Amino acid sequence: MKRVQLFIDGAYTGAESGATFGLVNPATGEEVARVSEGGAPDVDRAAKAAKRALSGPWGQMSTMARLRLLRAVADRIDERRAEFLALEMRDTGKPVSFAGKVDIPRGAANFRIFADMAAGQHEEAFHQDTPDGRGAVHITSRQPVGVVGVICPWNLPLLLMTWKVGPALAAGNTVVVKPSEDTPSTATLLGEVMNEVGIPPGVYNVVHGFGPGSAGEAIVQHPAVDAITFTGESATGRAIMAACATDLKRVSFELGGKNPALVFADCDLDAAVAGTVRSAFSNCGQICLCTERIYVEKPVFAEFVRRLSLAAKALKPGDPSDPDTQMGPLISAVHRDKVASYLKLAVAEGATVQAGGHLAEVAGFPGGFWVQPTVWTGLDHSARTLREEIFGPVCHVMPFESEEEAIALANDTPYGLCAAVWTGDVARAHRVGGAIDAGMVWVNTWFLRDLRTPFGGMKASGIGREGGHYSTEFYTELKNLCIKL
Ligand code: NAD
Repeated sequence: MKRVQLFIDGAYTGAESGATFGLVNPATGEEVARVSEGGAPDVDRAAKAAKRALSGPWGQMSTMARLRLLRAVADRIDERRAEFLALEMRDTGKPVSFAGKVDIPRGAANFRIFADMAAGQHEEAFHQDTPDGRGAVHITSRQPVGVVGVICPWNLPLLLMTWKVGPALAAGNTVVVKPSEDTPSTATLLGEVMNEVGIPPGVYNVVHGFGPGSAGEAIVQHPAVDAITFTGESATGRAIMAACATDLKRVSFELGGKNPALVFADCDLDAAVAGTVRSAFSNCGQICLCTERIYVEKPVFAEFVRRLSLAAKALKPGDPSDPDTQMGPLISAVHRDKVASYLKLAVAEGATVQAGGHLAEVAGFPGGFWVQPTVWTGLDHSARTLREEIFGPVCHVMPFESEEEAIALANDTPYGLCAAVWTGDVARAHRVGGAIDAGMVWVNTWFLRDLRTPFGGMKASGIGREGGHYSTEFYTELKNLCIKL
């Protein structure tokens, strides 16, 4: 796919302005495609097509017919797995060991699980006595919200986009998707799949472009768009929420994090180290759930730091298509420069570098955006390095002496997305898990997901929850119909 076009009303199209921008493979730094740069006129076409589709064949389709189509989308993603994988790897530089196991299978699973959930949907009825003795019946049902604007980040492109599009379509909505400007390809390929399985035109639309003054802002401001579901930075969430206030659009926000891991001396240390290597460095640290702050009980602190640092040094960045490669590059030169600025800042703030600390060089990929997995110790808790989301393969380890201190440190952050607790004491797991201000707490594991459970964050990490019936709540309007008998 050398030209990545918009997908509007069931057809591929260029932007009305004719504008395009370059797409860069982060592993090589080379331009690999030109992307149509949508703007307000293109969003207008997409939003109107999405509105029309609500009252067309899609809106009139039975629930079961709609859900059959969504299961067919899942099957077709599986059948075309190699194409989705190649495009996702090209856009992100992710190693095949990650994208092949996580991104693409979850892209398909997101359609299946929400089709299954919607199949079990039911209405509620309330019988009410009235003074005339005849009574009334109330029927409470769910309707689609309408046109949903889906604004996505670059770190798990197909996975996070379908996490929203799956439940939105299962509930009968139509969507206008704005993928990240850095990762436009798999959302575009999904348009072909929608046509192949017979999803009617206008149900799934994709407009590429940027945020402010571009396609992203135009979606948020379009009067035909009824709701916005957004995953991205907390600062972007603030701007989108302010814009949504004008039309009182409903919002669902999955935002940034600065997630803690708490390692108690009574834990299985091998498991805690292995789990923290995953939680700090998976996807080159570019998962909202990644651990950037680690607190370790004093008796095992030195040993934990030694083992984590050794493991970090052993993680080899390399050719993304090599199944043995564990680390890919960062997404862009801009993001590489941001992470590099924190590598400098941490040292300026007094960190001791236990592993990494520099940009990395990878043989055969001189232009890529590589960074060494980095472990720091020695920072004061007020350091910016410990307060701001870095979103790279970096973490800081700090000792603690008591459970109360560990909880206080974990909660000393504007964010509240997730946490990991490593302990062999189930009562402590329950106590500490309950005391941490985060939407998701994992005990003796990390990123173990059941798609029926609520996903989302507290504080600056989000508004609302998605997953299972929590998604249904966002993507539907409740209606109460009262019939006097
Ligand atoms: P970002 O906020 O820069 O961009 C996300 C999307 O918003 C992009 O498509 C962008 O073009 C668009 N956008 C930017 N400004 C906009 C505006 N004013 N109006 C409308 N759209 C706008 O985020 P990113 O750099 O792509 O992604 C990384 C961030 O996402 C990190 O902060 C990470 O923690 C967060 N994230 C959170 C979750 C979660 O579930 N909580 C999951 C993944 C990523």
